[in-house]
Amino acid sequence: MQTPEAVIPWHTPSLWNEANAALAHLLDHRRPALQAARRLADQIRGRLASLFPLMVDLCHATCPTCSDICCQHACVWIDFKDLLFLHLAAVPLPERQLRENRGDRCRYAAPHGCSLGRLQRPFVCTWYLCPAQTRILREHPAPWHQTQTCLQHIKQLRRQMENAFIQAITG
Ligand code: SF4
Ligand code: SF4
Repeated sequence: MQTPEAVIPWHTPSLWNEANAALAHLLDHRRPALQAARRLADQIRGRLASLFPLMVDLCHATCPTCSDICCQHACVWIDFKDLLFLHLAAVPLPERQLRENRGDRCRYAAPHGCSLGRLQRPFVCTWYLCPAQTRILREHPAPWHQTQTCLQHIKQLRRQMENAFIQAITG
């Protein structure tokens, strides 16, 4: 996927720091009004955490022998819902956006996997199941269905969280 550099939000250190400082200030200033958004962020955290054991197992089964590591060419970044979730759920912020320039690799792609905690990663890094992992999961209909249902629920919660945030700061 080719993406214009301008699409990547907060791609420089100064923009990243400014965005996080502004969001932190806003969330602090509107703390009482943001209770609903925080509750939604906590629900997202819980749903994500429920998926991680399966994701870890899938990675153990597929990644060590992979010859085309997705993180080496993934064109993904932390978007607004990701950043909002990190702040509202009090997850430690990554030091920087995933990549600065078009064509850069994700700065968190380490030789033995991602150097971010699973909660710190953009949601796309959780919901993406590569073909090898999809193949394994499809062999087990119940976990496959549960995973897809959970991912859809998280997507819905993320939209609700963003809407609750917008209502809180504009209301
Ligand atoms: S998730 Fe799939 S594509 Fe990515 S490194 Fe693991 S096995 Fe390879
Ligand atoms: S944040 Fe982690 S999982 Fe996501 S692309 Fe970067 S290295 Fe891969």
